[in-house]
Amino acid sequence: MALRIYNTMSSQVEEFRTLRDKEVRMYACGPTVYDYGHIGNFRTFVAVDMLQRFLRQSGYTVRLVMNITDVDDKIIRNAARDGVNVQQYTSKYEKAFLEDAAMIDIEQPKLVRATEHISQMADFVAKLVEKGIAYRTDDGSYYFSIAKFPQYGKLSKRDFSGMLDGARVDVDEYDKDSARDFALWKAPKPGEASWDTSIGPGRPGWHLECSVMSMQQLGESFDLHAGGEDLVFPHHENEIAQSESLTGKTFARFWFHVRFLLVEGEKMSKSLGNFYTLRDLVLKGHKPSSIRYLLASVPYRNQLNFTFDGLKQAAVSVERLRNFRQRLTAGNFPPGSNPEMRTLASETIERMRASLDDDLNTAQAQAGIFEMVRSANSALDSGQIKKDDTSPLLAAVEKFDEIFAVLNDDDGSKMKQVFDWAPTEGREKDISAELREAVQSGQLSDADIENKIAEMEAARRSRNFKMSDAVRAELSNAGIVIENTKDGVRWHRK
Ligand code: AMP
Ligand code: ZN
Repeated sequence: MALRIYNTMSSQVEEFRTLRDKEVRMYACGPTVYDYGHIGNFRTFVAVDMLQRFLRQSGYTVRLVMNITDVDDKIIRNAARDGVNVQQYTSKYEKAFLEDAAMIDIEQPKLVRATEHISQMADFVAKLVEKGIAYRTDDGSYYFSIAKFPQYGKLSKRDFSGMLDGARVDVDEYDKDSARDFALWKAPKPGEASWDTSIGPGRPGWHLECSVMSMQQLGESFDLHAGGEDLVFPHHENEIAQSESLTGKTFARFWFHVRFLLVEGEKMSKSLGNFYTLRDLVLKGHKPSSIRYLLASVPYRNQLNFTFDGLKQAAVSVERLRNFRQRLTAGNFPPGSNPEMRTLASETIERMRASLDDDLNTAQAQAGIFEMVRSANSALDSGQIKKDDTSPLLAAVEKFDEIFAVLNDDDGSKMKQVFDWAPTEGREKDISAELREAVQSGQLSDADIENKIAEMEAARRSRNFKMSDAVRAELSNAGIVIENTKDGVRWHRK
């Protein structure tokens, strides 16, 4: 089996193939750093992260590049409103994005900033002008002439036969139903940020940024380009037009788009009061692992309806998986093996792989691991697990977590940055009791806790009950619940 994945360009699920053997070059449109990232953004970023993790698990080396859009219309507008320069305005949000991505266990891609590639962007425009594909207007802006690229519309399947020749649009956020020559480069306006370049002063259009930086990092043709579904038109359509009309080559082979997330059945919006940044949820006491699990619980092309009930269930699922792992690592089992368990583990690994190979069916992969947990838990209850069974079962859990990344280090340390940040934004009052407790009590890592339990057990075995009680009290004060079972000591965080 091999990965089959939906390609927006062909509108079909296709077998995934790379241009170079076993190497994937992929580009994901990253955040526009003018505000804190919301859970919709993170649905897309987590989907891209899982794709790259799965490709790696499938034996590819992956080179993932993501841009940081640190100049665009909104940024310039907001920076001017606040009386700061573009860099001062964006650096706070870029830092927050990196912290948030780490908090939700996104492996950091190679990041490239638009403002660090301005001269390359100007050169790119100059080449398009030389080829007669772009033109300069009287004010010193440059436009892409879509009439010069007959395939315009091939990604979004829009018919532009009735388009207005030479009609133009100069904003990054433009009316989605009208085809217009779009701005590659914008002449400076009074009071706005601009750069002096070989094609004159001004600033790049948003679409140009991604064409220039992706090709610079990954080559003129690469394997996969990703983003949320809203980017199909005009952003990705324009990237294709710019890049392919310049090189004459296919720009990206696979186009991967993530469906928009809804909140409680509605489009997320500030006016509806259902707009949540990742930080809002963490402030409410929800763990990053629960959020990540929930974002992965619906395959990326299906509608994900985010609800607080769903988030609570996600937390329960993660805790079950963690407890299962704990039961296996901490338990005392009789020697030998139960062949059924080995089969169960290897079938589960196969099933998870087949699910993810099937256009990244993350829901089915989650169902697969929980079926194993159910069967193995009942085998544990009836004493049918032997010493040699634990490592194949744990290996299946590990394979799952290589992609889903929800099991490690949820002791409050990842949430601490939000806890520390809230007062700086005047949001101290929003810190929930749960977050406060998790951060203040949860300074022990999993490994610390396990070491303390081993210490406690050793003290108990040597009948030093005073010592074992003291360690137990210390753990309890740190919010760790300890249970004695016939399989040994188990623990979980309150
Ligand atoms: P932006 O910071 O607005 O440029 O968006 C960053 C990424 O998040 C882009 O790939 C968007 O398509 C994606 N995105 C924005 N809103 C949502 C949403 N509600 N659901 C899924 N992805 C989204
Ligand atoms: Zn982009």
